Amino acid sequence: MYNRRIAKLRGSLEFPLLVTFLPNIRYLTGFTGSSAFVLVTPDRFVFITDGRYAELGARLMSSVTGGELVEYRSGLNEVLAEQFTGEQRVGLEAQSVNWAFVHALKGKIDADLVATRGIVEALREVKDKSEIDALQAAAAAGDTAFLSVRAMAAAAASEGDLGWSLINAMRDAGAQQAGWPPIAAAGANAALPHHLSAYDPVGDGLLLLDYGCTVDGYHSDMSRTIWLQGEVDTEIARMHQAVRESQEAGIEAIRPGVTGHDVDEACRAVLRKYGYEDQFVHSTGHGVGLEIHEGPRVARNSEDVLEAGNVVTVEPGVYVPGFGGIRIEDMVVVTDDGHRVLTHSAKGLDA
Ligand code: ZN
Repeated sequence: MYNRRIAKLRGSLEFPLLVTFLPNIRYLTGFTGSSAFVLVTPDRFVFITDGRYAELGARLMSSVTGGELVEYRSGLNEVLAEQFTGEQRVGLEAQSVNWAFVHALKGKIDADLVATRGIVEALREVKDKSEIDALQAAAAAGDTAFLSVRAMAAAAASEGDLGWSLINAMRDAGAQQAGWPPIAAAGANAALPHHLSAYDPVGDGLLLLDYGCTVDGYHSDMSRTIWLQGEVDTEIARMHQAVRESQEAGIEAIRPGVTGHDVDEACRAVLRKYGYEDQFVHSTGHGVGLEIHEGPRVARNSEDVLEAGNVVTVEPGVYVPGFGGIRIEDMVVVTDDGHRVLTHSAKGLDA
């Protein structure tokens, strides 16, 4: 699997690339640690890490054809300079390295350093079966947690407390890590798309949830908005209906060949019809994988063309400051002839 990914990467390189972004290194090698560098040239694959990860690095390189391990204990720049010897140009991942790193490296090497963007990320946008299986397992853990959300909400001392209950429920259902501190936003707090859940009570009315976990490093991401007890506010019910129709229209639009813009517009058109377009204050969705937000982008200005193997979220929302908000989010895999939804939780306010 890693050899296939590495071969594909080599095919898209015009000059050697130093991979520094950890999700990219994980994608190419399976590395799960916090510090490593990978130099990829037409005929070399060098995994550079410090003493903490040398044993793991050796194990990973044993399954990479021609994979070399370089362990350093100090002097990283000298070690990198040695590896760059003979190269005229080396690409760096511009969004991953910082100024200090580039500055220090420049003093040590003869090669030209070239800023690159999104080379490995582009490969990661098309998931293979093992990746989709992991994403499906992560989504399933979120679905299982949602089944007991009402009981958890009734028992929760606060929004933050409910977040921890969701994390525990996902772990019981196979999650390996929480994706982020869950958003549990009650009442008017739901008007903040990324409300920070802490000590506010969960209450007994509107409750917006946005949470996820990882399985084998792959993220799930789901949102639901429910009404806990008593009669539903009529404006909330209308907002919810609009968002639900919008979200389902977005999912229906997904198939190979459409752009991120097309999917966004399918969602937006429904909200426009209801008069809520101005209250839709964020993008429709994003790719999801080893990172919670990755390509392709599903947004008004996105020209990214969807292809089979992409996994994206569809998550329109409507927010009225001081009053409340609604968001519904599923993960969707693009298939050869359309799409398959990975999130299966019920969507109603009464779910
Ligand atoms: Zn999302």
